[in-house]
Amino acid sequence: MSFQLTILPGDHVVAVSENQTLLEAAADAGLLLPHSCRDGVCGACKGKILDGTVDYGKHGPQTLTDEDKAAGLALFCCATARSDLTIECRTVSRADDIPVKKLPCRVQEMTLAAPDVMILKVKLPATEAFAFRAGQYIDFLLAGGKRRSFSIANAPEGADHLELHIRQVPEGFFTGQVFSSMKVRDILRFEGPLGSFFLREDSDRPIVLLAGGTGFAPIKGIVEHAIARGISRPMTLYWGARDRAGLYLADMAAEWEKTLPGFKFVPVLSDMTPGDDWSGRTGLVHEAVLADLPDLSGHAVYACGAPVMIDAARRDFTGRCGLPDDQFFADAFTYALESQA
Ligand SMILES: Cc1cc2nc3c(=O)[nH]c(=O)nc-3n(C[C@H](O)[C@H](O)[C@H](O)COP(=O)(O)OP(=O)(O)OC[C@H]3O[C@@H](n4cnc5c(N)ncnc54)[C@H](O)[C@@H]3O)c2cc1C
Repeated sequence: MSFQLTILPGDHVVAVSENQTLLEAAADAGLLLPHSCRDGVCGACKGKILDGTVDYGKHGPQTLTDEDKAAGLALFCCATARSDLTIECRTVSRADDIPVKKLPCRVQEMTLAAPDVMILKVKLPATEAFAFRAGQYIDFLLAGGKRRSFSIANAPEGADHLELHIRQVPEGFFTGQVFSSMKVRDILRFEGPLGSFFLREDSDRPIVLLAGGTGFAPIKGIVEHAIARGISRPMTLYWGARDRAGLYLADMAAEWEKTLPGFKFVPVLSDMTPGDDWSGRTGLVHEAVLADLPDLSGHAVYACGAPVMIDAARRDFTGRCGLPDDQFFADAFTYALESQA
């Protein structure tokens, strides 16, 4: 059975079948709605049902609460239509024609960048083009139908490989393999590119880049893309980690200050050890932004890292600092819903 889906802003009308999520129906019609995990966990796709009824789908109970449902909200990545619908989200843009593909790749290089961070480079197939936008992510497709998301840390310009920064999760199904049995030349499968976390280039707002831990990965992709394209909008990167080892590519980030005009790097540690010998900024990384930039009304923010950091940043930047809602772009590093038993 098929229904009519009207999407605001813009009054776009598309068809949606009862088995398709609202996000999928929009994408099939060439429309990009804000989203990230596509698993009902991160909340990036939360929007309003203005008219009609939905099945809310499988989602994290904290991500969409009963109060949210009573207020007419739903997660468009897992809601399906049960009638004709009118929905509203923060922004609707035209998806470009980059196709999402399922491809094999070969492990090319594994570098332990910190005790719990592996930089993994995987070689793309020579016979099939893979296009992506800087900042997007892929899902590794694993045994038993499991999928695990990782952000692409290199820029698309000239890329014959993908770089991933993988933090080891205790008891983690996939990251456990990366840190124990995976070796160079292993074959993996992935799906991508995914997500709406990429640089909006049709704006001249100064940019705040906010990274927590391996949230640095997609930010690195975006900065390298900016360097390749000669983008000279002012950019300030705030990168937070617990200790010095967690800023595993700090030298590279400091070097960007020389390569990219208008680029500034502010490293921030929250739990440094005496051996860290640190005279830089301390505390929570998003609070360093609050201290330096109390008025964000003219900025755009790109934030990536743990969900708790993203939530706090969204709340404080849009609440206290006047950042417009539609200028906060984020990927929260949630984990797969099936692993939350
Ligand atoms: C869009 C997106 C992009 C991502 N990009 C990256 C990236 O570039 N680098 C990166 O390191 N991670 C990234 N993540 C997070 C990563 O996908 C998860 O941490 C993943 O679940 C790890 O897989 P696993 O099989 O090792 O652990 P799982 O088997 O999924 O989890 C094992 C146990 O650990 C818990 N757990 C899993 N992940 C976390 C976590 N992050 N924090 C706290 N507890 C957790 C689970 O609840 C479970 O109990 C991203 C997530 C999303 C949604």
